[in-house]
Amino acid sequence: MRLRNIPRSQSVIEESAYVVNDPAAYKGRWQELFGNDHPIRVEIGMGKGQFLIAMAKANPDVNFIGIEKYTSVLLRAVEKLPKEDVNREEIPNLYLICMMADNLEEVFAEEELDRIYLNFSDPWPKDRHHKRRLTSREFLARYDKVLKKDGLLEFKTDNVGLFDFSLEEIPAAGWSLLSYTRDLHHDPMGEGNIMTEYEARFSAQGNPICKLIARRGQA
Ligand code: SAH
Repeated sequence: MRLRNIPRSQSVIEESAYVVNDPAAYKGRWQELFGNDHPIRVEIGMGKGQFLIAMAKANPDVNFIGIEKYTSVLLRAVEKLPKEDVNREEIPNLYLICMMADNLEEVFAEEELDRIYLNFSDPWPKDRHHKRRLTSREFLARYDKVLKKDGLLEFKTDNVGLFDFSLEEIPAAGWSLLSYTRDLHHDPMGEGNIMTEYEARFSAQGNPICKLIARRGQA
């Protein structure tokens, strides 16, 4: 998802009270930054933030952090947040970061996270790019470092090839598959589901949505 480079996006992002511009400075201290001891959940590749912002509003006792690699996309999420809310009073349990998922371990300490969400991650369909897929065993090993022992991964996609690949990677990486469906919107797993931007678009086109939940380590 590449948008035109938007002038001023950098300064709008840097000035937002919801954006952490120096995330590595908070490694091991994220709860301190949130000012509570609530669990921390991260969405990697949050795009324009529809899912994460709705999740944060619906779950005030959970801390949410959104990660996005493009500033032009992160800007769209920032624009959805309350303006002039310099004290983050409206959504105090939300922060956004512009970074690559590859650098997770520089920003989060061991066992600092409770859950990771991946929604409609880039499929990287070419075989030689399999290590770039966010559900590859290489990325699962990174999540191992920052998730609690019984931490969870929740993954949604309409891409069957990426979903099948993910179902194979989870046991191969030593993780446990807890549940999955290939048609979330017609399955009990979809109860209380909050849709992402891509999910709304692809399901409107008739694509079934796949979801899996996996736990770090063996059952
Ligand atoms: N989760 C959103 C957006 C899906 S598109 C939704 O479901 O609507 C995937 C997003 O992940 C894009 O915005 C892309 O820029 C971002 N992304 C892809 N690879 C990433 C990585 N390695 N680190 C951080 N963000 C990434």
